[in-house]
Amino acid sequence: MPSEIRNPSLPPCPICGAAAVTVHMYSTYDRADFGWRCGCPRYSITDKHHPPGCKVPEAQGLTKEAAEENWIEKVRVWNE
Ligand SMILES: [Zn+2]
Repeated sequence: MPSEIRNPSLPPCPICGAAAVTVHMYSTYDRADFGWRCGCPRYSITDKHHPPGCKVPEAQGLTKEAAEENWIEKVRVWNE
């Protein structure tokens, strides 16, 4: 399983306040690389922390840095 990387300098989830994590999405089976995802570690369609139909609290990027920059920008826009 891809491991989650915590980065204390990232803004937390604007909906539930959980600390954001960055995850490298790759397949250990065929080594396919799906890029990076950064955002709320609690979010799922059926979780109890986010209202149904809310925007997905995560961002993606081809690199760790890109995903984290996209997350920072997404949270900034969210909080405006
Ligand atoms: Zn959240």
